[in-house]
Amino acid sequence: MFRLPQLEYKLTELAPLFSEEQMQFHYGKHHATYLENLNKAIEANGALASKTLEALVLENSGPLFNNAAQAWNHTFFWFNLAPKGKGGAPSAELSAALQKSFGGLESMYKQFVDTGVKTFGSGWAWLCAGPEGDLKLVSTSNAEVPFKGSNLRPLLTADVWEHAYYIDYRNRRQAFLEAMKDYLNWNFISENYRNKNVRSLHQSMKG
Ligand code: MN
Repeated sequence: MFRLPQLEYKLTELAPLFSEEQMQFHYGKHHATYLENLNKAIEANGALASKTLEALVLENSGPLFNNAAQAWNHTFFWFNLAPKGKGGAPSAELSAALQKSFGGLESMYKQFVDTGVKTFGSGWAWLCAGPEGDLKLVSTSNAEVPFKGSNLRPLLTADVWEHAYYIDYRNRRQAFLEAMKDYLNWNFISENYRNKNVRSLHQSMKG
């Protein structure tokens, strides 16, 4: 059984990026529903019970993939956010990579916003690292993850499903993505860059 991950901040602490109401719906209802559906599928098929969340994402398709991947994507999204002023700064190693791949953080983030704005319909914008440490921006549709069928590992993501921002921003996806810049958890993002494996999220989600 998987459960909602514990967050290192209160649901009120990301305001004004996200209001408490936005967080209650997104974390407390949307994310929770993916987990409920995933748990129902696991209950119905005992062979799935011992699987990590990552294995469920990598080994399945259809509804099981969708719910496992959305559980994973949302946890990653919450972990890459922090209250304003509490997210630290990019590590020296990550700063150098940002400089090399994009000419710096500002330029990368502008292109990250653009990647999110141009994602058609529902999906996710990602900053990923390749095996050589090179950085790349990726857009995925619906529940798709950037690490399935590729050698990329995610560092940072933005949920661009309308449910992620519609309570606070209505149709203003770009305004939401621009506001997110001040709420990034650079400690988490830098750790993802340092770790050569995709961060395992299942431990913090197992009930
Ligand atoms: Mn979402």
